[in-house]
Amino acid sequence: MSATQQALTPEIEARLNGTPLVIMLDVDGTLAPIVSRPEDAAVAPATRAVLERLVAMPDVHVILVSGRAASDAHGIVGVKGVWTVGNHGFEVVSPDGELETDPDLADQSAAIAQAARELEPIVAAVTGAKLENKRWTLSVHYRLAARDAVPPLRSEVERVALGLRLRMTDGKEIVEVRPVAHIDKGTAVVMMGERLHAFENGASIVFAGDDRTDEDAFRSLRARSPRAVTIRIDESGEDKTAAEIRLRDPAAVHELLEWLAARRA
Ligand SMILES: [Mg+2]
Repeated sequence: MSATQQALTPEIEARLNGTPLVIMLDVDGTLAPIVSRPEDAAVAPATRAVLERLVAMPDVHVILVSGRAASDAHGIVGVKGVWTVGNHGFEVVSPDGELETDPDLADQSAAIAQAARELEPIVAAVTGAKLENKRWTLSVHYRLAARDAVPPLRSEVERVALGLRLRMTDGKEIVEVRPVAHIDKGTAVVMMGERLHAFENGASIVFAGDDRTDEDAFRSLRARSPRAVTIRIDESGEDKTAAEIRLRDPAAVHELLEWLAARRA
């Protein structure tokens, strides 16, 4: 028996039998293995294939939930017919490609643009660091930067963010600048779950993610529904998590998706 099958106890399996089945998946570190340059991220063809099968099934919805811009997350996964929640919830793209953003955030995008201008020279001065402007939020990646360069870089990002009344959040080898509006993966997954009837009687919802920002989603889903299945992807097996189950890596997520698809075929 594989580790993935072992994690899926009969009790959890029963919670995944429902209709509709709403499958929410983070992208980097969950569907796509973590790579040193974020632009190199890729989803295995076999994983793409099982996602395509799931999307085609009646009453199965697949939602990508990423910190990346929605178009970027969708491009990496490359599967038609999925929902994409990008920028940690600031953007939602429907299966037919329609983009929805919160109108209240429109004026915040000017502050984000200003933060990008201020951070450009600061980030450029740190070898290996990279600024990514995702319009509603900014990311500063530092995976390839020298370790002693990170604390001063982080405090510069925080200074710029606070100066523009924005906020800074931490992720894996990344800091992000976002509007103060309270939107995160937790609010995003509950909103999408409501919209797709995932919390109604007899419905099933599962969310898998590997990062600190995914913890908001685990907590919110478990608070919203005792039937929600939450999965932390964790290579070390030692990360603190609010999720119910741990799986090791994107290969284990692939197995989970195959298992879900086989049971509905
Ligand atoms: Mg991730």
